[in-house]
Amino acid sequence: MKPLQELTRKNIWELTPYSCARDEFKGRAASVFLDANENPYGTLNRYPDPLQEQLKAKLSPVKGVPASRIFLGNGSDEAIDLVYRIFCEPRLDNVVAIAPTYGMYGVCADINDVEYRAVPLHDDFTLDAGALLAATDEHTKVIWLCSPNNPTGNAFQRAAIEHILTTFQGIVVVDEAYSDFSAARPFRLDLDRFPNLIVLNTFSKLWASAAIRLGMAFASEEIIALFNKVKYPYNVNQLTQQQALKMLDDLQHVELWRATLLSERAHLLPSVAELPICKAVYPTDANFFLARMSDADQIYCYLVDRGIIVRNRSRVQLCGNCLRITIGTPDENSTLLGALRQYR
Ligand code: PMP
Repeated sequence: MKPLQELTRKNIWELTPYSCARDEFKGRAASVFLDANENPYGTLNRYPDPLQEQLKAKLSPVKGVPASRIFLGNGSDEAIDLVYRIFCEPRLDNVVAIAPTYGMYGVCADINDVEYRAVPLHDDFTLDAGALLAATDEHTKVIWLCSPNNPTGNAFQRAAIEHILTTFQGIVVVDEAYSDFSAARPFRLDLDRFPNLIVLNTFSKLWASAAIRLGMAFASEEIIALFNKVKYPYNVNQLTQQQALKMLDDLQHVELWRATLLSERAHLLPSVAELPICKAVYPTDANFFLARMSDADQIYCYLVDRGIIVRNRSRVQLCGNCLRITIGTPDENSTLLGALRQYR
């Protein structure tokens, strides 16, 4: 890996971050707070902990990552945007990403005026590590990988990802939003081996908390320090922190969801695959799957007319005539199957 200073935008490396009122007395007991211009009345009147220390302490053993290597943000989308703002000089640097993949990597590149180089996966949606590396040059700061990948659903071979991590001298982001549904070892457990690795996780998928907007980035302490410097001071609100702490008290429930969704996935995939209108169902390591249909546009509209919404991905690279279908409750899945069986 290149020295972190070389990979970081000069203005960010040299930035003096905003100092929160509460940072200044940290570690000492206090009961009269006249420092932050809050209203002393009410229940949500105080600014939340800017570094979410209680939440990180509770999350750390669950994720197997020290609290000092965790960044929490307003969804993992915040972490995606921060990667650009920290590392990529607009109109000068570029990033390389797989295609197809999660759309926000490209949108955030456009917002930040950073060149986005999309490199197609192989036809079977496996990773072309050689092509990704060949697309980099001296201005490539970041390679974006998403595993299991959205919208294809498959997790990539660990060896291919490791090859990219050890060969590329810049930052490699491995977005593991869906790794809770995969049997593969998550990369967040290997931060020690890869100083250039940033892993993304989210509360929006297995943790059933998309509404609270809570995402995670795991990386070296030095990279986490950069995230903390650039983020908005109070980027994770108090209600979100409270709700996440509550979710972390109920790990059994999360395990139950995982088991139910995996068992539903095991039922739904072959049932869709055997429909005459389905040409292929692709193997998945996520809580959704991609199905190639006889006519995705028509089937999509047919389902919408019945109040069933799936994602039409037919205009996405390599995904012609493909619908992306999320695993729902047993009732929702059988409603979908029933409708597809009646399609003429
Ligand atoms: N990464 C991937 C691969 C996703 O599919 C999504 C959401 N669909 C996100 C990140 C964003 O998650 P969050 O809700 O944490 O912003």
